[in-house]
Amino acid sequence: MKSVYGMTFNALENYFVEHGDKKFRATQLYEWLYQKKVTSFSEMTNLKKEVIALLEQDFSMEPLQLLKIERDKDVNKYLFELEDKEHIEAVLMLHDYGNSICISTQVGCNMGCHFCESGRLKKVRNLDASEMVRQILSVEQDLGKRISHVVLMGIGEPFDNYDQVVSLIEIINHDKGLAIGSRHITVSTCGIIPKIEAFMKLPYQVNLAISLHAPNDQLRSQLMPINKVYPLAQLFPVLKEYIAQTNRRLTFEYILLDGVNDTPDCAKELAQLLRGINGYVNLIPYNETNHLEWKRSKSETITQFYDILKKEKISVTIRREFGSKISAACGQLRSKKEDEA
Ligand code: SAH
Repeated sequence: MKSVYGMTFNALENYFVEHGDKKFRATQLYEWLYQKKVTSFSEMTNLKKEVIALLEQDFSMEPLQLLKIERDKDVNKYLFELEDKEHIEAVLMLHDYGNSICISTQVGCNMGCHFCESGRLKKVRNLDASEMVRQILSVEQDLGKRISHVVLMGIGEPFDNYDQVVSLIEIINHDKGLAIGSRHITVSTCGIIPKIEAFMKLPYQVNLAISLHAPNDQLRSQLMPINKVYPLAQLFPVLKEYIAQTNRRLTFEYILLDGVNDTPDCAKELAQLLRGINGYVNLIPYNETNHLEWKRSKSETITQFYDILKKEKISVTIRREFGSKISAACGQLRSKKEDEA
């Protein structure tokens, strides 16, 4: 049965109208689902019995099944089992500015980035919007506090699941729903150009992060096969267009891999590439995984890389590290689970 958590506000309004009811039922239903957060239709006491019966017949309110939680000081990792027994994960990070969740958008991933654990397991299927919304609801329930920020940086490539990702944004951003401000939502992509073009036309002020990881095509193609399809010379004009159209600042993610993309020359080339672009670089210390050979850059190298970018007047931060102890980043918990099976 279809999950009610995958329904956008507009789709619900249409649903009620089609069933001879009033549009404002959608407001009532959203308030129950996302503000009062009840777990069954029968608790929705301002709805008539017939309406409840109709909803029960058409929609499910099942939460995701939570298999495992790994907890650390300021980070928790959640492993979920979906109805078809597939596994996905979400990570909760407690920042001083709020509680942020990193959610998965697909089961596995087809982008095949060589350093990434999620790609090692290949895409099984897309998640639907409800499966993304329900990651947020489950984690929020476990936390007992509001989640204020959502990043789409878990397993999967969001722009390889574009329509459901846009529905997700619509649902969680809606002011009658979780009301997560669009500036508190970040979509991360490896650079699927047609979808970046579509995304810039949407009316949302959502943040966009580009997984760059290399300053030139030769190196980027070695790390990320997608670069052979959408090389930098095609990507960058579109990114400039994105910035011009949306007036928003881009984030460039750059993982530092020991001896691969962390040399002073790479830093200078990166500065050159980003010169004059309204964006900033987020340097990510690589999370090593058991299955892959890549090593994280030494901390002196990370500092040196950072200093060069600073000197070149490129805005740059080093990502604060969360939970490398708890097999934290990027598909590692799911991958561990598949190993056990
Ligand atoms: N597919 C999207 C979003 C998911 S990956 C994308 O490519 O942006 C989220 C980020 O984590 C990407 O920048 C990805 O390259 C990075 N990443 C993957 N494996 C990692 C690892 N082991 N350590 C640190 N970052 C990693």
